[in-house]
Amino acid sequence: MTKALVKKGELRLFFAKPLDKQKIKHFTLPNPHREIYDFKDMKIAHKRVPLGLGNSVRIAQYNSKTVRVVIESRTPFKPTAYQPLFSKDTYHISLPKGSAYIQKGNARQAYIKPQITKQIRKRHTEVIVIDAGHGGHDSGAIGGGKKEKDLVLQISKRVIKQLKKRGYPVYLTRASDRFLKLNQRTRIADKKDAKVFISIHANSVVKSKRHKMQGIETFFLQNTRDERSQRIAARENNAVLKGTDRVSKHVILDSVLSGPKIVESNKLAIDIHKRMMTNARSLYRDVKDGGVRHAPFYVLVGASRPSVLIEVGYISHPKERKRLFSSNYQNLLAKGIVEGIENYLQNRRREIDF
Ligand SMILES: [Zn+2]
Repeated sequence: MTKALVKKGELRLFFAKPLDKQKIKHFTLPNPHREIYDFKDMKIAHKRVPLGLGNSVRIAQYNSKTVRVVIESRTPFKPTAYQPLFSKDTYHISLPKGSAYIQKGNARQAYIKPQITKQIRKRHTEVIVIDAGHGGHDSGAIGGGKKEKDLVLQISKRVIKQLKKRGYPVYLTRASDRFLKLNQRTRIADKKDAKVFISIHANSVVKSKRHKMQGIETFFLQNTRDERSQRIAARENNAVLKGTDRVSKHVILDSVLSGPKIVESNKLAIDIHKRMMTNARSLYRDVKDGGVRHAPFYVLVGASRPSVLIEVGYISHPKERKRLFSSNYQNLLAKGIVEGIENYLQNRRREIDF
């Protein structure tokens, strides 16, 4: 079994080769009602046990020869299970209504009406690391006497607060005004096996262009030929690389070019950017959309997880700077980032590769 996902109210299972239906054993167990499907002579690819299809669906290597799929329901239901006509290497099982997208640990909520479900604080398992850019002797960009390091710390703290409220385990790379080396920023994400890494920054341009450039840009790690993206990456890299020797710079650069999580990071960037724009424009209609882009940011090369770098705005732009330092606008940006992360994680929970 190579993959499982929930789509159109069905659990869809994928196999490396055509499935022999004779090897499926189906039975039910009571209290709570469970529909069990045993797949004989079957292994879960890569031996990883999938989590996250929701507590109502569990898949596990039951013994060395059997993969067991359990669909739990508070009330008995009759699933339809079938092999689609033209794809014999898949198997579909219908799910009880409304059960598919419930998170781990919240199975009972599947049958509570939505407005009640909303009031219950969910506990999530996905660790999120927020990296506040710069710090200490490294101020980052400066505009009108205001410093990037202070701005991004304020926003990062708001993001952390909102994520905690939504039940996520979160870590902030720096909670005060101090300088961190590159590996200090990524280490915590590795140690805690974070699912998502977000680095928060603010942009700036030379004085002659300061009235021209403004808006939100979201980056993921990939090389680029786009000059503007290159310039932004060069500026951010410069600060973060201080204290890194030449050899590790090379190692870093190599992994930039072969980052394994590019596709996932791109998806994460799109989700975050969309929600940030929507939230920011709900009160400030003229916020410029700088788009989702890619560039070789060294701070993202830990990339054993989806990673994104956000340039929340241009500290060099007088009007945008004022906005960026207001708590109102900061909260909107934080809300956008949090909703984007949540959106991304929800989509991943429905589609699990193992
Ligand atoms: Zn920065």
